[in-house]
Amino acid sequence: MAMKALDIYKLLPKTNCKKCGFPTCLAFAMKLASGKVDVDLCPDLDEQTRELLGGATRPPIRLVAIGAGERSFTVGEEFVLYRHERTFYHQPGLMMQVADTWPEERIEGVVARVRDETFHRVGEDLSVDGIAFRWESGDADRFGGVVGTVEACASVPEVIIADDPEAQAAALAHCGNFQPLIHAACADTAEAMCDLARKYGCALAVRAGDLEELKRLVGLCRDRGVENLMLDPAPATLRDFLARSVEIRRRAVERTDPDLGYPVVFDTVPLGLPDAATALGILKYAGVIIIDELGPASTMAALTLRQNIYTDPQKPIQVTPGLYPVNAPTGSAPVLMTVNFSLTYFTLLGYLEAAGIPCYLFIVDTEGMSVLTAVAGGKLTETLVADAIKTTELENRVDHRVLIIPGYAAPLSGKIEEETGWEVRVGPGDAAEIGEYLETGWEA
Ligand code: SF4
Repeated sequence: MAMKALDIYKLLPKTNCKKCGFPTCLAFAMKLASGKVDVDLCPDLDEQTRELLGGATRPPIRLVAIGAGERSFTVGEEFVLYRHERTFYHQPGLMMQVADTWPEERIEGVVARVRDETFHRVGEDLSVDGIAFRWESGDADRFGGVVGTVEACASVPEVIIADDPEAQAAALAHCGNFQPLIHAACADTAEAMCDLARKYGCALAVRAGDLEELKRLVGLCRDRGVENLMLDPAPATLRDFLARSVEIRRRAVERTDPDLGYPVVFDTVPLGLPDAATALGILKYAGVIIIDELGPASTMAALTLRQNIYTDPQKPIQVTPGLYPVNAPTGSAPVLMTVNFSLTYFTLLGYLEAAGIPCYLFIVDTEGMSVLTAVAGGKLTETLVADAIKTTELENRVDHRVLIIPGYAAPLSGKIEEETGWEVRVGPGDAAEIGEYLETGWEA
């Protein structure tokens, strides 16, 4: 079980010597309990205490890196079952499969999508993370040839899916230096797969439908010097995946079963139902999800879901406060005030661009809260608006003194007028109506 700050404090030297970089032992204990620092920062612990505190405070799920270079990513190092307890930190890598039996054009199509397809959403670029090569042909040389051909032009993280060490070796000869994930070792192949993982410095997935067998394989791989492991619970159905993945996560974060403290890999392809399986993997703790050729709409949906789940619920995605010109405005253009919650900003921006009306978007800092929440929570105030007008030098940018505020901020209109000296007009509550509002109701 994770330790509380006070329990940790009781085990510290309590000298407040500051060698750890914190002013007191209690301050260090609090950081340690939150998993934000490592116990090794305190040099004055005896070995037994260091081991005890390390086991109780280090991330319960190992951090594993997949790939090398710009698009490499890490998974694991999560602490909780539910994101209302704490953020989920490392989003799962989505790896689109290609099989070595496919025609060249089909493989090239998937590779081009993974390499080049990007979706832009609320200020972030979203894309599939890499390619999963599946050995279907039964011919190790052919498999190696396909991996080698793609490797030369893709430069993205990879998973090598082959249960035969010879096929793995043929593929790794082309891409081993780029640290793909080797998928997967079972009881019969664990030793040979460990040798390959060690030779190329790759992470290795172990696969078994029984959690006790998974643990046994983990122990075997660790004994053979492979620490960067992932767990494939070999589900035959979505229900299997849900049950096994949740059980693995629960035992890992509760620290009752350290041998299950590794990220999970979910091969959705054999199960069918690609959209549902991908969504389930994102929601229920997969670290790597092997997906079929999802169409662009399904891919966008999966990436949007992942973006939402792996956003800190206490820190909404924000845009930088300031003054944003839209559609090349002049000094007589309307000024529309709103908040720096990304979804609000990008939704409004989309409607304004579509309407083609020149204007200024005047974004005030509500710490990423939506208009309604900011008004209710006292984060959007007349003082904040007055300060933002000064900071952005709004008075020098337009030749009028009219501010359009969102419909949900209507209760503040009088106070904003008083504080700023600007005439305040209340705009629509729904961003979709902003084009019509400006066309029919705007005149400085
Ligand atoms: S280094 Fe250790 S003993 Fe010194 S203040 Fe930090 S926790 Fe306390």
